[in-house]
Amino acid sequence: MTKILKIDPLNPDKRSLRIAIETIKNGGLVVFPTETVYGLGADAFNVEAVSKIFKVKNRPMDNPLIIHISNFSQLEDLVDVDFKKRKFLDFISHRLWPGPVTLVTKKSERVSYKVTGGLDTVAIRYPAHPVANLLIELSNTPIAAPSANLSGKPSPTDAKHVINDLNGLVDIIIDSGRSIFGIESTIIDISTEVPRLLRPGPISIERLKVLIPTLELPNIQSFRKPLSPGMKYRHYSPESCLVLFICEDEEKMVERIRRHLRKTNNKYIILLTTDETINLYPKDSNNFKKISLGSRRKLYEIAHNLFDSIITADLEKPAEIIVEGFKEMGLGFSIMNRLRKSAHRIVGEEDEV
Ligand code: AMP
Ligand code: MG
Repeated sequence: MTKILKIDPLNPDKRSLRIAIETIKNGGLVVFPTETVYGLGADAFNVEAVSKIFKVKNRPMDNPLIIHISNFSQLEDLVDVDFKKRKFLDFISHRLWPGPVTLVTKKSERVSYKVTGGLDTVAIRYPAHPVANLLIELSNTPIAAPSANLSGKPSPTDAKHVINDLNGLVDIIIDSGRSIFGIESTIIDISTEVPRLLRPGPISIERLKVLIPTLELPNIQSFRKPLSPGMKYRHYSPESCLVLFICEDEEKMVERIRRHLRKTNNKYIILLTTDETINLYPKDSNNFKKISLGSRRKLYEIAHNLFDSIITADLEKPAEIIVEGFKEMGLGFSIMNRLRKSAHRIVGEEDEV
Protein backbone atom coordinates (compact mmCIF):
# COMPACT_ATOMS: atom_id res chain seq x y z
CA MET A 1 0.00 0.00 0.00
CA THR A 2 1.27 3.43 -0.93
CA LYS A 3 0.46 6.33 1.36
CA ILE A 4 -0.02 9.69 -0.33
CA LEU A 5 0.92 12.74 1.73
CA LYS A 6 -0.25 16.15 0.58
CA ILE A 7 2.39 18.66 1.67
CA ASP A 8 2.49 22.43 1.14
CA PRO A 9 5.59 22.96 -1.06
CA LEU A 10 6.47 26.30 0.49
CA ASN A 11 5.63 25.61 4.09
CA PRO A 12 6.11 21.94 4.95
CA ASP A 13 5.79 21.07 8.60
CA LYS A 14 7.69 18.43 10.50
CA ARG A 15 4.65 16.66 11.81
CA SER A 16 3.08 15.93 8.46
CA LEU A 17 6.41 14.63 7.13
CA ARG A 18 6.90 12.29 10.10
CA ILE A 19 5.86 9.07 8.33
CA ALA A 20 8.06 9.88 5.34
CA ILE A 21 11.04 10.45 7.64
CA GLU A 22 10.41 7.17 9.48
CA THR A 23 10.11 5.39 6.13
CA ILE A 24 13.51 6.64 4.94
CA LYS A 25 15.08 5.69 8.30
CA ASN A 26 13.57 2.20 8.06
CA GLY A 27 14.88 1.55 4.55
CA GLY A 28 11.65 2.30 2.68
CA LEU A 29 10.99 4.24 -0.52
CA VAL A 30 9.66 7.80 -0.53
CA VAL A 31 8.78 9.83 -3.62
CA PHE A 32 9.50 13.49 -2.88
CA PRO A 33 9.30 16.77 -4.80
CA THR A 34 12.34 18.75 -5.86
CA GLU A 35 12.49 21.97 -7.86
CA THR A 36 13.38 19.98 -11.02
CA VAL A 37 11.27 16.77 -11.10
CA TYR A 38 9.98 14.27 -8.51
CA GLY A 39 12.61 11.89 -7.05
CA LEU A 40 12.27 8.28 -5.87
CA GLY A 41 14.32 8.31 -2.69
CA ALA A 42 15.95 5.94 -0.22
CA ASP A 43 18.64 6.23 2.47
CA ALA A 44 21.85 6.56 0.42
CA PHE A 45 23.80 4.52 2.99
CA ASN A 46 21.32 1.62 3.08
CA VAL A 47 22.29 -0.71 0.24
CA GLU A 48 19.15 -2.81 0.47
CA ALA A 49 16.94 0.26 0.29
CA VAL A 50 18.90 1.54 -2.70
CA SER A 51 18.49 -1.81 -4.47
CA LYS A 52 14.72 -1.44 -4.17
CA ILE A 53 14.88 1.77 -6.23
CA PHE A 54 16.37 -0.13 -9.18
CA LYS A 55 13.81 -2.90 -8.86
CA VAL A 56 10.78 -0.62 -8.69
CA LYS A 57 11.87 1.51 -11.65
CA ASN A 58 13.14 -1.47 -13.61
CA ARG A 59 16.33 0.54 -13.90
CA PRO A 60 19.52 -1.02 -15.29
CA MET A 61 22.04 -1.55 -12.46
CA ASP A 62 24.74 0.47 -14.23
CA ASN A 63 22.60 3.61 -14.36
CA PRO A 64 23.82 5.55 -11.29
CA LEU A 65 21.68 7.56 -8.86
CA ILE A 66 22.08 11.11 -7.63
CA ILE A 67 22.66 11.59 -3.89
CA HIS A 68 20.65 14.47 -2.45
CA ILE A 69 21.96 16.44 0.55
CA SER A 70 20.55 19.27 2.62
CA ASN A 71 23.70 20.92 3.96
CA PHE A 72 27.33 21.27 2.91
CA SER A 73 28.73 19.23 5.81
CA GLN A 74 27.11 16.07 4.39
CA LEU A 75 29.72 16.22 1.61
CA GLU A 76 32.36 14.95 4.06
CA ASP A 77 30.87 11.44 4.09
CA LEU A 78 30.41 11.29 0.33
CA VAL A 79 33.53 12.54 -1.41
CA ASP A 80 37.21 11.70 -1.35
CA VAL A 81 39.18 14.36 -3.21
CA ASP A 82 42.60 15.99 -2.99
CA PHE A 83 43.10 19.56 -1.80
CA LYS A 84 42.96 21.16 -5.26
CA LYS A 85 39.80 19.33 -6.29
CA ARG A 86 38.22 20.12 -2.94
CA LYS A 87 38.84 23.82 -3.41
CA PHE A 88 37.19 23.64 -6.82
CA LEU A 89 34.26 21.63 -5.45
CA ASP A 90 33.76 24.21 -2.68
CA PHE A 91 33.99 27.10 -5.15
CA ILE A 92 31.42 25.64 -7.55
CA SER A 93 29.05 24.19 -4.98
CA HIS A 94 28.82 27.38 -2.93
CA ARG A 95 27.81 29.28 -6.05
CA LEU A 96 25.30 26.79 -7.45
CA TRP A 97 23.77 25.14 -4.37
CA PRO A 98 21.13 24.86 -3.21
CA GLY A 99 19.81 24.60 -6.75
CA PRO A 100 19.13 22.49 -9.84
CA VAL A 101 22.74 21.43 -10.44
CA THR A 102 24.38 18.02 -9.85
CA LEU A 103 28.14 17.69 -9.41
CA VAL A 104 30.02 14.47 -10.17
CA THR A 105 33.21 13.88 -8.21
CA LYS A 106 35.31 11.05 -6.75
CA LYS A 107 33.33 9.01 -4.24
CA SER A 108 34.34 8.10 -0.70
CA GLU A 109 34.52 4.50 0.48
CA ARG A 110 31.24 4.93 2.33
CA VAL A 111 29.31 5.38 -0.90
CA SER A 112 28.28 1.99 -2.23
CA TYR A 113 28.97 0.99 -5.83
CA LYS A 114 25.29 0.08 -5.92
CA VAL A 115 24.49 3.82 -5.85
CA THR A 116 27.13 4.77 -8.42
CA GLY A 117 26.42 1.92 -10.85
CA GLY A 118 29.94 0.56 -10.26
CA LEU A 119 31.70 3.90 -10.88
CA ASP A 120 34.36 5.48 -8.66
CA THR A 121 32.56 8.80 -8.95
CA VAL A 122 29.38 9.96 -7.25
CA ALA A 123 26.74 12.47 -8.40
CA ILE A 124 25.61 14.87 -5.66
CA ARG A 125 22.94 17.56 -5.53
CA TYR A 126 21.76 19.97 -2.84
CA PRO A 127 18.22 20.79 -3.96
CA ALA A 128 16.45 24.06 -3.23
CA HIS A 129 12.99 22.62 -2.56
CA PRO A 130 11.75 23.20 1.04
CA VAL A 131 10.11 19.74 1.23
CA ALA A 132 13.21 17.92 -0.07
CA ASN A 133 15.40 19.92 2.31
CA LEU A 134 13.30 19.13 5.37
CA LEU A 135 12.94 15.45 4.46
CA ILE A 136 16.71 14.99 4.05
CA GLU A 137 17.54 17.06 7.14
CA LEU A 138 15.17 15.21 9.46
CA SER A 139 15.94 11.76 8.02
CA ASN A 140 19.49 12.57 9.09
CA THR A 141 21.01 10.91 6.02
CA PRO A 142 21.67 11.79 2.39
CA ILE A 143 18.95 10.44 0.08
CA ALA A 144 19.78 8.61 -3.14
CA ALA A 145 17.17 9.28 -5.80
CA PRO A 146 16.68 9.07 -9.54
CA SER A 147 13.59 10.55 -11.15
CA ALA A 148 10.38 8.91 -9.93
CA ASN A 149 9.26 7.38 -13.23
CA LEU A 150 9.47 3.89 -14.68
CA SER A 151 12.76 3.54 -16.52
CA GLY A 152 12.73 5.13 -19.99
CA LYS A 153 9.54 7.15 -19.47
CA PRO A 154 9.32 10.95 -19.21
CA SER A 155 10.26 12.33 -15.77
CA PRO A 156 7.34 13.20 -13.50
CA THR A 157 6.75 16.90 -12.95
CA ASP A 158 3.53 16.44 -11.00
CA ALA A 159 2.61 13.98 -8.23
CA LYS A 160 -0.27 12.75 -10.38
CA HIS A 161 2.25 11.39 -12.94
CA VAL A 162 3.97 9.48 -10.12
CA ILE A 163 0.70 8.11 -8.82
CA ASN A 164 -0.08 6.75 -12.32
CA ASP A 165 3.34 5.09 -12.57
CA LEU A 166 4.30 3.98 -9.07
CA ASN A 167 1.18 3.67 -6.93
CA GLY A 168 1.43 0.37 -5.02
CA LEU A 169 5.16 0.06 -5.71
CA VAL A 170 6.55 2.56 -3.18
CA ASP A 171 5.80 3.30 0.49
CA ILE A 172 5.08 7.02 0.35
CA ILE A 173 4.34 9.58 -2.36
CA ILE A 174 4.62 13.18 -1.20
CA ASP A 175 2.30 15.32 -3.30
CA SER A 176 3.39 18.96 -3.49
CA GLY A 177 1.82 19.75 -6.85
CA ARG A 178 3.72 20.80 -9.97
CA SER A 179 7.54 21.02 -10.13
CA ILE A 180 8.96 24.49 -10.68
CA PHE A 181 11.59 23.90 -13.39
CA GLY A 182 10.14 20.77 -14.98
CA ILE A 183 13.40 19.43 -16.41
CA GLU A 184 16.11 17.49 -14.59
CA SER A 185 19.19 19.05 -13.04
CA THR A 186 22.22 20.22 -14.98
CA ILE A 187 24.99 17.62 -14.45
CA ILE A 188 28.65 18.73 -14.37
CA ASP A 189 31.48 16.22 -14.04
CA ILE A 190 34.26 17.86 -12.04
CA SER A 191 36.16 14.60 -11.45
CA THR A 192 38.09 14.99 -14.70
CA GLU A 193 41.01 17.36 -15.37
CA VAL A 194 38.72 19.63 -17.39
CA PRO A 195 35.13 19.93 -16.05
CA ARG A 196 32.54 18.53 -18.46
CA LEU A 197 28.87 19.21 -18.89
CA LEU A 198 27.15 15.81 -18.94
CA ARG A 199 23.54 16.94 -19.06
CA PRO A 200 22.23 20.47 -19.73
CA GLY A 201 19.47 21.55 -17.35
CA PRO A 202 17.72 24.55 -15.86
CA ILE A 203 20.91 26.63 -15.51
CA SER A 204 21.93 27.93 -18.93
CA ILE A 205 25.31 27.05 -20.38
CA GLU A 206 25.95 30.73 -20.92
CA ARG A 207 25.73 31.27 -17.14
CA LEU A 208 27.80 28.19 -16.31
CA LYS A 209 30.54 29.36 -18.67
CA VAL A 210 30.94 32.56 -16.66
CA LEU A 211 31.55 30.48 -13.55
CA ILE A 212 33.61 27.74 -15.21
CA PRO A 213 35.23 29.20 -18.34
CA THR A 214 36.97 25.89 -19.16
CA LEU A 215 33.72 23.89 -19.07
CA GLU A 216 33.73 21.35 -21.87
CA LEU A 217 30.43 21.17 -23.73
CA PRO A 218 28.97 18.20 -25.54
CA ASN A 219 27.96 18.79 -29.13
CA ILE A 220 24.30 18.57 -29.95
CA GLN A 221 24.55 15.37 -31.94
CA SER A 222 26.19 13.57 -29.03
CA PHE A 223 22.92 13.90 -27.13
CA ARG A 224 21.75 10.84 -28.97
CA LYS A 225 24.91 9.03 -27.91
CA PRO A 226 25.79 8.27 -24.29
CA LEU A 227 27.95 10.76 -22.42
CA SER A 228 27.63 9.11 -19.05
CA PRO A 229 26.24 5.80 -17.91
CA GLY A 230 22.51 5.97 -17.91
CA MET A 231 22.53 8.24 -20.89
CA LYS A 232 22.90 5.25 -23.19
CA TYR A 233 19.34 4.21 -22.39
CA ARG A 234 16.30 5.63 -24.16
CA HIS A 235 14.95 8.46 -22.12
CA TYR A 236 11.82 10.47 -21.65
CA SER A 237 9.96 8.48 -24.28
CA PRO A 238 6.17 8.31 -24.46
CA GLU A 239 4.37 5.24 -25.84
CA SER A 240 3.14 7.22 -28.85
CA CYS A 241 5.54 7.99 -31.68
CA LEU A 242 7.12 11.38 -30.91
CA VAL A 243 8.18 13.32 -34.00
CA LEU A 244 10.42 16.33 -33.38
CA PHE A 245 10.74 19.08 -35.98
CA ILE A 246 14.03 20.97 -35.77
CA CYS A 247 13.79 24.76 -35.65
CA GLU A 248 16.56 26.71 -37.30
CA ASP A 249 14.03 28.91 -38.99
CA GLU A 250 10.55 29.16 -37.45
CA GLU A 251 8.70 29.72 -40.71
CA LYS A 252 10.34 26.76 -42.43
CA MET A 253 9.59 24.52 -39.46
CA VAL A 254 5.90 25.49 -39.40
CA GLU A 255 5.67 24.90 -43.16
CA ARG A 256 7.27 21.45 -42.78
CA ILE A 257 4.81 20.52 -40.03
CA ARG A 258 1.85 21.73 -42.11
CA ARG A 259 3.05 19.64 -45.03
CA HIS A 260 3.42 16.62 -42.74
CA LEU A 261 -0.11 17.14 -41.40
CA ARG A 262 -1.55 17.29 -44.92
CA LYS A 263 0.07 13.94 -45.70
CA THR A 264 -1.29 12.08 -42.69
CA ASN A 265 -4.78 10.85 -43.25
CA ASN A 266 -7.15 9.93 -40.47
CA LYS A 267 -4.46 9.23 -37.89
CA TYR A 268 -5.06 10.93 -34.54
CA ILE A 269 -2.30 13.50 -34.08
CA ILE A 270 -1.53 15.78 -31.17
CA LEU A 271 0.68 18.78 -31.92
CA LEU A 272 2.67 20.43 -29.14
CA THR A 273 3.12 23.98 -30.36
CA THR A 274 3.62 27.47 -28.88
CA ASP A 275 1.58 30.63 -28.29
CA GLU A 276 3.34 32.31 -31.23
CA THR A 277 2.67 29.57 -33.80
CA ILE A 278 -0.52 27.80 -32.68
CA ASN A 279 -2.76 29.76 -35.06
CA LEU A 280 -0.73 28.82 -38.12
CA TYR A 281 -2.14 25.28 -38.11
CA PRO A 282 -5.58 23.83 -38.95
CA LYS A 283 -8.32 24.01 -36.30
CA ASP A 284 -8.80 21.08 -33.89
CA SER A 285 -10.85 18.24 -35.37
CA ASN A 286 -11.70 14.60 -34.71
CA ASN A 287 -8.21 13.48 -35.58
CA PHE A 288 -6.17 16.57 -34.74
CA LYS A 289 -5.53 18.48 -31.55
CA LYS A 290 -3.03 21.23 -30.76
CA ILE A 291 -1.73 22.18 -27.34
CA SER A 292 0.51 25.15 -26.57
CA LEU A 293 3.60 24.52 -24.45
CA GLY A 294 3.75 28.26 -23.69
CA SER A 295 5.50 31.25 -25.17
CA ARG A 296 8.74 31.05 -27.18
CA ARG A 297 9.73 34.23 -25.35
CA LYS A 298 9.44 32.46 -21.98
CA LEU A 299 11.44 29.27 -22.36
CA TYR A 300 11.19 28.54 -18.62
CA GLU A 301 7.45 28.21 -19.22
CA ILE A 302 8.08 25.72 -22.05
CA ALA A 303 10.45 23.70 -19.80
CA HIS A 304 7.91 23.78 -16.97
CA ASN A 305 5.16 22.39 -19.24
CA LEU A 306 7.24 20.05 -21.43
CA PHE A 307 7.03 16.65 -19.71
CA ASP A 308 3.53 17.29 -18.38
CA SER A 309 2.28 18.00 -21.92
CA ILE A 310 4.01 14.93 -23.37
CA ILE A 311 2.66 12.67 -20.60
CA THR A 312 -0.85 14.14 -20.89
CA ALA A 313 -0.87 13.82 -24.69
CA ASP A 314 0.39 10.25 -24.44
CA LEU A 315 -2.59 9.26 -22.24
CA GLU A 316 -4.83 9.89 -25.27
CA LYS A 317 -2.82 7.32 -27.26
CA PRO A 318 -2.45 9.35 -30.45
CA ALA A 319 -0.72 7.82 -33.49
CA GLU A 320 1.82 10.64 -33.29
CA ILE A 321 2.82 13.42 -30.95
CA ILE A 322 4.40 16.14 -33.07
CA VAL A 323 6.59 18.65 -31.23
CA GLU A 324 7.89 21.96 -32.52
CA GLY A 325 11.61 22.40 -31.93
CA PHE A 326 13.39 25.35 -30.32
CA LYS A 327 16.58 27.24 -31.08
CA GLU A 328 19.43 25.57 -29.18
CA MET A 329 20.45 28.55 -27.07
CA GLY A 330 19.98 29.27 -23.37
CA LEU A 331 17.29 27.07 -21.90
CA GLY A 332 16.38 26.05 -25.47
CA PHE A 333 19.55 23.93 -25.46
CA SER A 334 18.31 21.89 -22.47
CA ILE A 335 14.76 21.61 -23.80
CA MET A 336 16.07 20.30 -27.13
CA ASN A 337 18.36 17.84 -25.32
CA ARG A 338 15.29 16.23 -23.73
CA LEU A 339 13.29 16.33 -26.95
CA ARG A 340 16.09 14.79 -29.00
CA LYS A 341 16.32 11.93 -26.50
CA SER A 342 12.61 11.28 -26.42
CA ALA A 343 12.03 11.57 -30.18
CA HIS A 344 11.35 8.48 -32.25
CA ARG A 345 11.96 10.61 -35.36
CA ILE A 346 13.67 13.92 -35.94
CA VAL A 347 12.69 15.91 -39.04
CA GLY A 348 14.52 18.83 -40.57
CA GLU A 349 18.12 17.99 -39.97
CA GLU A 350 20.41 16.61 -42.62
CA ASP A 351 21.08 13.39 -40.81
CA GLU A 352 17.44 12.69 -40.13
CA VAL A 353 17.11 9.85 -37.63
P1 AMP B 1 17.97 10.63 -12.99
O1 AMP B 1 17.88 11.28 -11.66
O2 AMP B 1 16.90 9.63 -13.23
O3 AMP B 1 18.09 11.65 -14.07
O4 AMP B 1 19.32 9.78 -13.01
C1 AMP B 1 20.52 10.30 -12.59
C2 AMP B 1 21.46 10.49 -13.74
O5 AMP B 1 22.64 11.07 -13.21
C3 AMP B 1 21.95 9.18 -14.38
O6 AMP B 1 21.14 8.73 -15.41
C4 AMP B 1 23.33 9.55 -14.90
O7 AMP B 1 23.24 10.01 -16.21
C5 AMP B 1 23.76 10.68 -13.98
N1 AMP B 1 24.82 10.23 -13.05
C6 AMP B 1 24.67 9.76 -11.79
N2 AMP B 1 25.84 9.42 -11.25
C7 AMP B 1 26.78 9.66 -12.17
C8 AMP B 1 28.19 9.51 -12.22
N3 AMP B 1 28.88 9.04 -11.19
N4 AMP B 1 28.82 9.86 -13.37
C9 AMP B 1 28.13 10.34 -14.41
N5 AMP B 1 26.79 10.52 -14.43
C10 AMP B 1 26.13 10.19 -13.34
MG1 MG C 1 15.56 9.66 -14.82
